[in-house]
Amino acid sequence: MRQSIPFDNSYARLPNRMFAAIKPTPVKTPALFTVNSDLAALLGIDPHMPNAAEVFAGNTIPEGAEPLSQVYAGHQFGNWNPQLGDGRAVLLGEVIGTDGLRRDIQLKGSGPTPYSRSGDGRAWLGPVMREYLVSEAMHALGVPTTRALAAVTTGEPVYRENVLPGAVITRVAQSHIRVGTFQFFAARGDIEALQALTDHVVARHYPEAKGPADLLDQVVARYAQLIAKWMALGFIHGVMNTDNVAIAGETIDYGPCAFMDTFHPNAVFSAIDQQGRYAYSNQPAIGTWNMAQFATALILLMPDRDQAIEDFTVAINKMPALYEAAWLDAFGRKIGLADATEEDRPLIADLLDLMTREGADFTNTFATLGTSAARDQFVDRSGFDDWQVRWDDRKSPDALHIMTAANPQIIPRNHRVEQAIAAGVDGDFGPFHAMLDAVTKPFAPLTDDTAYFARQPSNDERVTRTFCGT
Ligand code: AMP
Ligand code: MG
Repeated sequence: MRQSIPFDNSYARLPNRMFAAIKPTPVKTPALFTVNSDLAALLGIDPHMPNAAEVFAGNTIPEGAEPLSQVYAGHQFGNWNPQLGDGRAVLLGEVIGTDGLRRDIQLKGSGPTPYSRSGDGRAWLGPVMREYLVSEAMHALGVPTTRALAAVTTGEPVYRENVLPGAVITRVAQSHIRVGTFQFFAARGDIEALQALTDHVVARHYPEAKGPADLLDQVVARYAQLIAKWMALGFIHGVMNTDNVAIAGETIDYGPCAFMDTFHPNAVFSAIDQQGRYAYSNQPAIGTWNMAQFATALILLMPDRDQAIEDFTVAINKMPALYEAAWLDAFGRKIGLADATEEDRPLIADLLDLMTREGADFTNTFATLGTSAARDQFVDRSGFDDWQVRWDDRKSPDALHIMTAANPQIIPRNHRVEQAIAAGVDGDFGPFHAMLDAVTKPFAPLTDDTAYFARQPSNDERVTRTFCGT
């Protein structure tokens, strides 16, 4: 039967040691509980194709698909792991969207692959719902990210600490190539594969780059921008391992991520991040470290390696300044300044200090700045009032307009994500759909229906730990 996915695959044409051809493992009773009509339209896919549940579960391989799992390596929490890969994901193929961009269509949770190690290749419903909600929210918030096309329950149990319902998510990305993909071939001295990968990435994501040095500059620039966007939203990725750094500059891997409620620069949510390596305020430095690992892999392609080490060091050392400029612009906008300069840094920093001391809600403080609701975030009203006097002095007449575009009303709050997951596990996807609707319109004025999703958690609702999506 003819399926309606217009595949145009390119990764499958690369040297075959760069992946393993592997089909998804069929599941018992696939049931589609969400499909993304807007994204489907962008990809030229009919979201209501008759066998959508079978296709998005991996039970039916659509015509033109060339299923494969990609190999990669990576630094996990700073430790080198020479052999990773898609342990529970299968790339069905690529599609060129109506915007001319090529994108991967990947099933995640679709069964074991040669890279599964001791894992079962499956995902349970919770992380699938979390990734769906958070990645689509990130897209609506204007952050480059992988996206979610569809999700199914499998009708099969998944065994973790408990027995949980299995699920598969269909993830869409500009590509799934990571810093770790480069590291895998560099570590083996496989220059031919490294060159093929680099050529592929340049042609696909950085067509203006004239070789590895240029590519490095452009990836560094994209990544500096990306992390500044995370910071401006109070987003903590949680697992910034080099195998989770997408070379196209998209946020990928929503395992133990979290949006902060109460602001604190050292906030960490991931249960496995005991040292706080990936704490909120460490993200820019870790981002630079990750780019240094990318540079190290690219060195092998350079004819004069000593010279390249010097040049690449200069390129990496540019990242903090690029990030700081992007941060200043983003946080300037959050307080209504379209043209923040270095002189405005103390004004922003002093607000963040007050917020830290008072445990203010990150999103709601910025979303209500200029109203009494912002002042209510602070017990020390006089401290905030003093800050407001300085702010009033500096802010421009169109501040409200700038802030409305910069400060979301709604983010996917941890406690609401957990509540949606709990209902989903009981077979009720109503809360999931209501939340998806709200978080994909993050800048809209609150209504009676959406105010619920903007409410900060009560003490007993507060989520303090998140777990990897395994
Ligand atoms: P992550 O923490 O999601 O970035 O995953 C790290 C590595 O573990 C990747 O190579 C994954 O493919 C693999 N992995 C995670 N969960 C599973 C699973 N349930 N089965 C097989 N491999 C897995
Ligand atoms: Mg990963």
